[in-house]
Amino acid sequence: MEETQHDLLVIGAGPGGYVAAIRGAQLGLDTACIEKAPALGGTCLRIGCIPSKALLELSHRFEQAKNDYAGFGIGVGDVALDLKKMMKHKDKTVTLLTRGVAGLFKKNKIERYEGLGRFEGPGVVVVEGKEPVRIRAKHIIIATGSEVAPLGGVELDGERIGTSTEALAYPEVPEHLVIIGAGVIGLELGSVWRRLGSRVTVLEYLDRILPGLDAGTSKLALKAFKKQGMEFHLGVRVTGARPDGDGCIVEAEGLDPISCDRVLLAVGRRPNTDGLGLDAIGLETDRRGFIAVDDHYATAVPGIYAIGDVIPGPMLAHKAEEEGIACVEGIATGYGHVNYNAIPSVVYTHPEIACVGKSEEELKEAGVEFTAGTFPFMANGRAKAIADTGGQVKILADAKTDRVLGVHIIGPHAGDLIAEAVVAIEFGASSEDIARSSHAHPTLAEALKEAALAVDGRAIHV
Ligand code: FAD
Ligand code: NAD
Repeated sequence: MEETQHDLLVIGAGPGGYVAAIRGAQLGLDTACIEKAPALGGTCLRIGCIPSKALLELSHRFEQAKNDYAGFGIGVGDVALDLKKMMKHKDKTVTLLTRGVAGLFKKNKIERYEGLGRFEGPGVVVVEGKEPVRIRAKHIIIATGSEVAPLGGVELDGERIGTSTEALAYPEVPEHLVIIGAGVIGLELGSVWRRLGSRVTVLEYLDRILPGLDAGTSKLALKAFKKQGMEFHLGVRVTGARPDGDGCIVEAEGLDPISCDRVLLAVGRRPNTDGLGLDAIGLETDRRGFIAVDDHYATAVPGIYAIGDVIPGPMLAHKAEEEGIACVEGIATGYGHVNYNAIPSVVYTHPEIACVGKSEEELKEAGVEFTAGTFPFMANGRAKAIADTGGQVKILADAKTDRVLGVHIIGPHAGDLIAEAVVAIEFGASSEDIARSSHAHPTLAEALKEAALAVDGRAIHV
């Protein structure tokens, strides 16, 4: 077997792994990356963030053209869906971006190995691919990401009863789609297929949607999704789903069996360490399969680090990227840090939902006194001009110091607007800092300024 040696070896080329590899190369480390899939970019680029956002955007435009354009004096005739073409755009976007990562690897002289990486011993990994290779490296980062969490009684057949991967590529619009789990995946992909014409029923175990989100924002979101025609059954425990003729049957406690033509299982994801050979280096995972790390992303085994979805914390691409950078900078320079309080979270539905920092519930639980300032998009000139006035901005500021503790936005372009709040939190800004900063008019960002003014009871436009 061929044998090679590198300073830094990264296993997995998702947003955590490929970014870590690029930063390692920038810092002068002889860097290599093993990826089992032919395309680089991981879950995010191949079967996650990117294809889902392509479909969310196109399905939104389709729905607008169908329902809204005529009312604005834009005649487009009969609006028809060409699902194949829509999927083609999604696939092309994925191909361009995954090839882009391959280009970045070349530019940064990162050695790419294709195949399954498996530990043979401390500092030694074997690539099980077309041409097996044994690689020795002083520093090894595990960035193997996550996979769909199964649910007892739900028989995934990779077709009618599937996961987000199948739901990103249904060959036709399902007549009735049942989604198990009202989390981010369920609501984003549920939105796509509802807009394209499906009846969508969401079954959720908890009595609310989007757990983890600020409760007030979650309520506003539920109201909006119901108004759009999504059906919800909250507080129900799904006990099974099975194929039935041309369709499937879903069973849940307290509900009659539901017949539908497709089921999307979206009850969370679990860390992926399958086939990695952790036994060979004596590295254990916790009960749920996560790898424990210290502040420098070092595992219990010297020279082995872990980042991204495979370690505890929110399963987000940008969180994985920040960890990849901090981990490698720690290896190369001794310094590397991630401010987890300033990691934003975005749900790309319509309205979009975005937050950063603490929720009201978290602050109450921690006994922190705060003042909330809210501002509705209904009173924002730009939102009115673009006819997208649902939702609000809410800023939570420390009652004594006025420091911004949390920002929760539901409304147009919330995912882009949250960047200002992230910078505010990262810089330890006060709500007065935001309120005193000039925001261009007419922009949606003015809603943030107004919410900051509202913290002190002096919003101008409400
Ligand atoms: P991954 O991206 O999962 O990459 C891990 C890589 O490791 C994979 O390519 C895998 O093939 C490879 N691998 C695994 N084991 C081995 C091995 N033994 N040898 C070699 N290679 C191996 N997050 C957001 O922030 N925004 C979004 O909009 C968003 N949308 C999403 C939509 C969907 C449908 C899904 C499923 C997820 C979404 N996420 C989103 C979550 C995001 O994709 C993950 O948080 C992110 O990809 C995690 O990055 P990672 O590098 O830790 O792992
Ligand atoms: P999730 O954790 O967001 O939501 C899962 C939902 O399923 C929860 O509401 C949970 O209460 C519910 N649930 C659990 N067991 C159930 C049961 N037996 N019956 C009914 N409901 C049940 O998980 P997800 O939506 O699968 O997404 C997985 C991960 O991917 C998330 O951690 C998320 O961060 C990431 N992701 C992020 C984005 C984004 O950032 N926009 C998009 C998609 C996915």
